[in-house]
Amino acid sequence: MTSSPLIGVLALQGDVKEHELALEAVGAHTTRVRAVEDLKAIDGLVIPGGESTTMSNLAIRMGLLEPLRAVSSAGMPMYGSCAGMIMLANTVIDARPDQQTIGGLDVTVRRNAFGRQIDSFEIDLEIPAVGELPFRAVFIRAPLVESPGPGVEVLSTLRRGGAAGTIVAVRQGVRLATSFHPELTGDTRIHDLFVQIVRQCS
Ligand code: GLN
Repeated sequence: MTSSPLIGVLALQGDVKEHELALEAVGAHTTRVRAVEDLKAIDGLVIPGGESTTMSNLAIRMGLLEPLRAVSSAGMPMYGSCAGMIMLANTVIDARPDQQTIGGLDVTVRRNAFGRQIDSFEIDLEIPAVGELPFRAVFIRAPLVESPGPGVEVLSTLRRGGAAGTIVAVRQGVRLATSFHPELTGDTRIHDLFVQIVRQCS
């Protein structure tokens, strides 16, 4: 077991720095992943929020998509927030036709699921896997999980409003994904959960 694992943050596009700070706050070391060789030393990978179509195009152009799929298949823990969740999903609804994902997470996600009226919002979530206190979650043009496969654990759903019941956080073994951006609020419990997952398998 490594107490301070090295976590890569995919740094093609998106809010990389905020994830690095959150990961370092919970005792991990971080490094940026931009090229295939950056994958060699890392114990786990965070895929930040941003724009999943751009991230997908950049990953293809940099020759990173297949290597990312290979390390994922080999069991590397991965955490994706927002666009990162889309990158981990096996199936994406409302994807651009050329959009590719790393996959590995047995869910269907719907991009930009909350519509223009409620493009961005903040809400307190219950996430029992990270403790009893509510988790303040920021959603920005967020995806939602439509159909989790049988091996997928639902960690949180929205509780109120028209979107009640919507799945916004899931885990499948070493893969973790949230529709929201925990790196933006200073609550590091999701990052702590991911680092624990990494520690358990390194
Ligand atoms: N709507 C974006 C996408 O489809 C995700 C937004 C985000 O990561 N904040 O990639």
